[in-house]
Amino acid sequence: MLKKTLFIFSVLLTVTALSSFVVEKKQKAIKTIIIDAGHGLQKNGGYNGAKGSYSYEDEICYEVSKKLVKMIGNEFPDIKIIETRPTHNITEIHERADIANQNRGDLFISIHVNAAPPKQHREFVGNKTVVSYTGKGKKRKKVTRKVPQYRYYTTPNPSKGTETYIWGSHKNEDKEIVIRENAPMLGEENYRDKYGDVDPNSPDFIALSLLKTKQFFKRSATLVGMVEEEFAKVGRASRGQKQRQVGIWVLQATAMPSVLVETGYITNREEEDYLNSDKGQEEISVCITNALRGYITWLEKSQTPITGKGNPVINTQKSYAFLKDIEDREKKRMAIKNK
Ligand SMILES: [Zn+2]
Repeated sequence: MLKKTLFIFSVLLTVTALSSFVVEKKQKAIKTIIIDAGHGLQKNGGYNGAKGSYSYEDEICYEVSKKLVKMIGNEFPDIKIIETRPTHNITEIHERADIANQNRGDLFISIHVNAAPPKQHREFVGNKTVVSYTGKGKKRKKVTRKVPQYRYYTTPNPSKGTETYIWGSHKNEDKEIVIRENAPMLGEENYRDKYGDVDPNSPDFIALSLLKTKQFFKRSATLVGMVEEEFAKVGRASRGQKQRQVGIWVLQATAMPSVLVETGYITNREEEDYLNSDKGQEEISVCITNALRGYITWLEKSQTPITGKGNPVINTQKSYAFLKDIEDREKKRMAIKNK
């Protein structure tokens, strides 16, 4: 009997513990935001981001992030803002994820600048006569032939506009592990005293962190759509919301909704000027802050699209279409995998 009571008691404890992990109590939708300025000066003083005709991605990420931090701070004084790269110097990629996870961020926003390789061209400039000889002795013959000559040159890539990314859905497993390892309760001191023997590797725990992964994916995809909509509103060339297959490890290494904003092309002279200008950097920050406002309202309205008066009217259609597209592709991918 005692054994049975103990068993029921421990089940109850586990359920309480798990529900505190999954069901967020009625509290602010977002308490902590992580702002991640991409790249930064290496120890040898060199830049490591993309390069424009006169400026560096590292510096633009820094300036935009600083403006964004200030703007979010003014707009949402209750939200704690943590910078992963508060100075001009680089923060190593693993450190960025650690800072985000240790500070238990509710949202991770990474700021980057895009680049595209120059376009290669070939132009015919005329023929060159090349003389050669065949045969030996009396049979020796002079042969002339014409060889076309080309001039090779490059021009700047005209690509321009914004892109906002979430992690690739094929990385959901990585994200799930990170979420499990960073479950809020595990961060509490003496969590075993409070919750009993909760095993982060138990099937229940894994199932719940999978749900959490799905939720974070939906949230991230929604915010991504909102960010791109804001860019489109101010006349930026919005290249849309995307899933990146490679290269943004930090998005799946953070146990929270996470997005990466490519704020424009440094390789396009017009956009390079924009990205380096106070006006451009302000505008980018306004767009992201507006999207954030819409996202918070959306979260507070239990994830229903916002149409009511008094609230910023966000057209979440784009986000839902994007989610549907991802889900369809993921289904196809799983179908192939299971064959
Ligand atoms: Zn970058």
